[in-house]
Amino acid sequence: MALGAALGAAVGADHVEPRGGLRDVSGRECNFSWWVRPADTAEVAAVVRVCREHRAGIAPVGSGTAYWAPLPESGAVALDLSRLEGLEWEGRVAVAGAGAAVRPLDQQLRAAGGHLALHPDAFGDTTLGAMVATACTSGIGMGVTTIGEAICGVEVVTGAGEVLFTGSAARTGVPPFLREGVPDLTGCFLGAEGGLGVVTRVALKHRPAPWRIHLRGRVLAERLGAVVGLGRALAAAYDTFRLTRSLGRWGEGYALDVWVISAFSAREAAERAVEVERRLVEAGAMVESRAAESARARAGKSPEYDARWTGPLGGLDLFTARARMRGLDVNAAYEAFDALLPAAEALVEAQRAAGVPESRLAWYLAPDFVNVGVHASVPLNADPWPAERSAPWFERFAALPVVPYRLGRSWSPSMLEGLGAGREALRALRRQLDPDGVLQPGLPLWS
Ligand SMILES: Cc1cc2nc3c(=O)[nH]c(=O)nc-3n(C[C@H](O)[C@H](O)[C@H](O)COP(=O)(O)OP(=O)(O)OC[C@H]3O[C@@H](n4cnc5c(N)ncnc54)[C@H](O)[C@@H]3O)c2cc1C
Repeated sequence: MALGAALGAAVGADHVEPRGGLRDVSGRECNFSWWVRPADTAEVAAVVRVCREHRAGIAPVGSGTAYWAPLPESGAVALDLSRLEGLEWEGRVAVAGAGAAVRPLDQQLRAAGGHLALHPDAFGDTTLGAMVATACTSGIGMGVTTIGEAICGVEVVTGAGEVLFTGSAARTGVPPFLREGVPDLTGCFLGAEGGLGVVTRVALKHRPAPWRIHLRGRVLAERLGAVVGLGRALAAAYDTFRLTRSLGRWGEGYALDVWVISAFSAREAAERAVEVERRLVEAGAMVESRAAESARARAGKSPEYDARWTGPLGGLDLFTARARMRGLDVNAAYEAFDALLPAAEALVEAQRAAGVPESRLAWYLAPDFVNVGVHASVPLNADPWPAERSAPWFERFAALPVVPYRLGRSWSPSMLEGLGAGREALRALRRQLDPDGVLQPGLPLWS
């Protein structure tokens, strides 16, 4: 049977289209041979088996908001996971479909007294499965967790077409509640960018929605180091500590956003906020406003809740209609901050000199590491910063003591070479889980 017909037999002809295209948020065009929308895990497995038989490459696709070129440019079958969005409960553990968009998912969890403790600092249409595949360690909530800490296992369809569970659910008949116990494969899928398996469901630990106080202010550039040092010391008090400096307002220094939290009461959150504010001011920050968000906040009903998202759900479409994004992000230990700062500022300066109209330097603080990203927006019709202009900057950052925030096709080979013997172990795992190499063809990490 021809590939298209076999895919139709696997998921129903209505859910297969020839030659689907996707322009990702960086403006990169990806042309797929087929666009397939399976309904559930069994259909994902059937698609993988069909592609394996036909030696056709597969690219799992979420919302296409990744800007570091993780998807192949042509030829692969796009595995669109948007129909895998159901939510089931195993006790208090929420098992959500990989295609669930993070903002509606957060609302569903809140209705049950929980919340999605971490999500990208974006519009909320990015998918849960992609948060696992790209190892989300940046954005809103990273003061309390990383994606690896927030989950207790995943369900994955391997490149061999087999369904595999990680965490406690790896043992037949045991529900997902814990990652630890036996050596746990979950970590191997974090950051694998779909190269080891297609994430189909994710088990989320129950985390009660906290009360939050949003402190907003400014930090002059010369006080940044002191405020970052304070953020590190205060780690248990907040879920998000963000410092952003925008090209258009460069001279004003950094905008400061700190969400102070309490899992217990509004009163405790308020008391903590007073203390955090006092110490921020001592470190040289200017705090301009303080606003409370209830643990029961709901989208569209609470301005403070909505303020945690970059814009309305679907705002991504408005963004991509006018601009494309160029980004470079890394994670580092706090000790690397002094080396990172000049490199990040120099990148924004170079973008300014090239005529980039919008660029934002963002620092997100976690208890154990700092995430920094430089995100430029360039107009669709004129591009002062084509992707290749970033290449020397990726080289420069690769020479620092950092780990890349997602690899895709953006980083130079030197970053991969630095993975040493571990890389061969990863390749062996890939051969085991994806014997024909159908998943994410051409992705340097797995090639
Ligand atoms: C304005 C803006 C702000 C952003 N801020 C942040 C931020 O703060 N933190 C952050 O982490 N990211 C951020 N991002 C990047 C991006 O939104 C996230 O990384 C997001 O998680 C990607 O989700 P997606 O559904 O769009 O995935 P896609 O772009 O569709 O896919 C990303 C990668 O994941 C793989 N993949 C997708 N789904 C699966 C699956 N089910 N199984 C296996 N592999 C899969 C794809 O093959 C691809 O390699 C931002 C992006 C924008 C545009």
